[in-house]
Amino acid sequence: MSLPVIAIVIPCYNEEEALPFSIERILSILRCLDQQGIASSHSYILCCNDGSTDDTWGIIKKLHSQNSSVKGISLSHNRGHQYALLAGLMTVKDRCDAAISIDADLQDDPNAIIEMVKKFNEGCEIVYGVRASRASDSWFKRTTARGFYSFQKSMGLDTVYDHADYRLMSNRALNLLSEYGESNLFLRGIVPLIGLKTDVVTYDRHERVAGKSKYPLGKMLSFSIDGITSFSARPIRMIFIIGLILLLLDVAMSIYVFISYFGHDVIPGWTSLMLSVWFLGSLILMGLGVVGEYIGKIFVEVKQRPRYAISDYLID
Ligand code: UDP
Ligand code: MG
Repeated sequence: MSLPVIAIVIPCYNEEEALPFSIERILSILRCLDQQGIASSHSYILCCNDGSTDDTWGIIKKLHSQNSSVKGISLSHNRGHQYALLAGLMTVKDRCDAAISIDADLQDDPNAIIEMVKKFNEGCEIVYGVRASRASDSWFKRTTARGFYSFQKSMGLDTVYDHADYRLMSNRALNLLSEYGESNLFLRGIVPLIGLKTDVVTYDRHERVAGKSKYPLGKMLSFSIDGITSFSARPIRMIFIIGLILLLLDVAMSIYVFISYFGHDVIPGWTSLMLSVWFLGSLILMGLGVVGEYIGKIFVEVKQRPRYAISDYLID
């Protein structure tokens, strides 16, 4: 049996500081895979430059000229982590036996790659990298990230807990992934839908090797909302349920009003009227907001725009 060719896919956005370290480190892991006889010596790295404004692409080109195991693609402009990752995965789909996606900052321990490949050789088609602890993250990042998972779960979006986009996918899994044509990309939600034999590898999360995070709170929040509205209709159902409860309360309220009306004099209450007008007004606005969110998604989906455009290849 021939050894599997593994492609390591790295989305890179303004990573000129981190990239030289990261590539060096991952190349050593690839050598290790080769020495241990668990992956082919033709395994390689594919860097996806996500429209960086610094010298990231220049560095990728330089590393490619020094070592042909470092390959690259460059998106024509910045599309965001998920799209850069998809572009990379779709590029290696028919050029490897399995692909592993990892961030350029090596916050996810690259040693887990070895475990992932072992699991792949044992027959797993998707292997999730799951963080054993978040000790290296700041208190703020840790708390907001926890909130992010529980909020998603309560809204009906099931993802693998403490798994970001560090995972191995077999050639078959990648081909199945390519059939998901949605524009609002949330890979963490899509991959579990693929099925196939899956397993988990745990690792410790480290500090960034260099550079700054490109995922501040605002981006993380919008990513979370994107995930929920792409995968779950629970928010809209919640509005419906609130409406139903209010309707029941309204029936009880009407009975009470009628009894009071026939029983004794009622002074028309300006305060209660105002309160209900405001309350109902905000409820209606909230409902409209949720409906609007879904209509926005439909709007983007029906246009069926290409999700990325690759301008350069450094493949062969
Ligand atoms: N990234 C990208 N496009 C973007 C933002 C980020 O390709 O628009 C890449 C980035 O280079 C890194 C990965 O996505 O390899 C994760 O980003 P980052 O480490 O900044 O996020 P964090 O780990 O702080 O959540
Ligand atoms: Mg990071």
